[in-house]
Amino acid sequence: MQPLRKAQETRRAFDRVRRSTCGNCPCGCGVKVFLRGDSMVDIFGDEEHPANKGSFCPKGLLEYRHLGNPDRLRWPLLRESVSQPFRRASWDEAIRFVAARLREVERQWGRDACSVYAAPASSFGHLLGGTVFAGGFGTPNGPWRFLPHHRAEGGSVAGMFGVNAASLLTNTPRDWCNSRCIIVYGCDPAATDPMAIGPIIDARDRGAAVVVIDTRTTMTAIKSSYALRARPGTLSVALRGILRLLFDEERIDREFIAEATDGVQALRQELEAYAPGDVARRCGIAEKDLRKIADVIGSAYPVQVVTGGWLGMEEMGEDDLRLCASLVCLRGSIGIPGGGPNLLNATPFDPSQWLERGGRALSGGAAVSLSEALLARGSDCGAWFFEGDPVARMAGGTAALEALSAAPLVVALGSYASLTTNRAHVVFPMASWLESDGLLAAGNGRSLQWHSRILAPPGECSTPIDFWADLAEQFDFAATLPWRGAQRDERNRAAAQWALQRNPLTSALSVEALDPERNPPGGVLWPCVDPAEIAFEDSRYIRGDVRGRNILFQRNSVYPLTERRFPTPDGLISLCGPQPREFTGTASGPESGELLLVASVPVDHVESYSGRISDRAAAEAFVTLHLHPRTAAAAGLAEGDHAVIENSQGKLRGRVRLTDTVDPQVVWCIPVPGAASSDNTLQSPWSLYPPSREPGVRAAFARVSLRAFRNSEALDP
Ligand code: SF4
Repeated sequence: MQPLRKAQETRRAFDRVRRSTCGNCPCGCGVKVFLRGDSMVDIFGDEEHPANKGSFCPKGLLEYRHLGNPDRLRWPLLRESVSQPFRRASWDEAIRFVAARLREVERQWGRDACSVYAAPASSFGHLLGGTVFAGGFGTPNGPWRFLPHHRAEGGSVAGMFGVNAASLLTNTPRDWCNSRCIIVYGCDPAATDPMAIGPIIDARDRGAAVVVIDTRTTMTAIKSSYALRARPGTLSVALRGILRLLFDEERIDREFIAEATDGVQALRQELEAYAPGDVARRCGIAEKDLRKIADVIGSAYPVQVVTGGWLGMEEMGEDDLRLCASLVCLRGSIGIPGGGPNLLNATPFDPSQWLERGGRALSGGAAVSLSEALLARGSDCGAWFFEGDPVARMAGGTAALEALSAAPLVVALGSYASLTTNRAHVVFPMASWLESDGLLAAGNGRSLQWHSRILAPPGECSTPIDFWADLAEQFDFAATLPWRGAQRDERNRAAAQWALQRNPLTSALSVEALDPERNPPGGVLWPCVDPAEIAFEDSRYIRGDVRGRNILFQRNSVYPLTERRFPTPDGLISLCGPQPREFTGTASGPESGELLLVASVPVDHVESYSGRISDRAAAEAFVTLHLHPRTAAAAGLAEGDHAVIENSQGKLRGRVRLTDTVDPQVVWCIPVPGAASSDNTLQSPWSLYPPSREPGVRAAFARVSLRAFRNSEALDP
């Protein structure tokens, strides 16, 4: 029998092959690592893995360079004050330093002054370790406070469907080929989630319309059937305009709405203020284009929305998610092949589930952004714990940075020098996914996967779980934590096993089941509440059948562990949701002489995916200012020129790149993690944003002015 896929194999000499899962993004591709002795000689995609089928993207391949990157952090760094240079320390010394300072903070300000920050893209180890540490320590400012509502408890989609938006990958990518219309909303999987674009292109090639609704001409838009480019900040207005047209032209599925939803009248009423002509004007698009998109969507069945993703999820507002889900409901495309609201980077875990209930209510309180928390606390900022480089993406300008600088303890877990390590007292070097065991708890395929330690980490690089476990050992609650009793090299496994069994939707799973060296690669789909539901990739699946609960909310079936199709109090999807917020964006357009600054998710600069995998010299790091040629001409700028962009929050310098993929009234900046910065010149576009006034939602844009500087002037320190 012919093999179904071409075996991926190196031409270099090797003596062993190990299987694992790429941890560089939520596509979760399978990898084959070729070893000679203890050294990796090559790495390839795993042809047996259902997501990548042997391919391997440049972002994944950069892991090869990351491992030997001379700029990589290998030892803990320590300093008494951020005005001093770092000195190398041992892991144990650094842990003792952090514990001693944390006790000082507790004495001076109380436990609430300790904050553990996390974002949707944080690693599972940091989310779990940071959560249980914060819970044990007794601070209400654990990771759950900083995650957007849709990522954790609450949120409008949770009110609609009874499950968190983060768990709403209703139809897995395996099923998307059955769709007749895929709406890709506010994300660019072709650029950021390379394997997730495959099923979308597959559906398009089978005749489905692919509609991209975004604020720039993305790589996915270039591959789409139709693209609507709205003015930044107006995406949800455009979506309301489309919903309004579906109602007006009776393109809604009355039977499904009557059977499975309530609140349709409230939704229709909400759309009263979104007449097509007005929406077109506010969004900066032609009314005929809006009508065309509504016609395409209104003519297709089933339809689905793909949104979120590795980087897009952070930008998504509550309204966006609610309206995307409403659109799919209005078209009756829930619980059927080819339908569904499908959020990438989905996970069954909600960090507040990991808190021991009882005693102090730790999970209460509104979600806040990092800058909101810093500015609200002012001089009471005590201890901060970060993973990665969130300071590079922090709104709030110099005021927020100054508040952070006043904190007596800032700890960073990372792999390279960054804007966050610049503000830290202690830095702990992190191991790569090839150098550690770990659960891949969020993915684009609703599967949970496992990566194994294949290589020894350099220096004292270790994992977030080790950091949190070692820090907890310095306090009296260490014995209550999930990895208690496990040897050091077994902690990640013990922590993952604990989380799997504690979550009702994954209770039948185990680390052993997910391990690609014990079972076929690809992990196991969740929900998985019964051992009989554990199903792996095999030849039957390759032929097109599906495994596990491939489609959620099917008619005549119940949501796991409930007696209803939808786990809401009345068993129906609530279309009315929470009270809508009035749009506060750029409805009237920029004033004369003003431009909008938008810090996009990075889509076309490999170094921007993460400072962690960049091998660029820090001196080369520079913001890229994407300008429409008309805008550049008006400002007297040409390709490659240097320019300064500023607003009341600060300023940043960058190199001009001309492109007609952005609106002429927009300056689009690619953030450069790790770029050098000083208090006077903020190299992060995010730092130019004023803090958001809406809980859990970061400001998406800010008015700025673009000023032309001569090259030599702009480069002056
Ligand atoms: S798509 Fe993501 S998971 Fe797959 S190889 Fe690239 S970085 Fe790794």
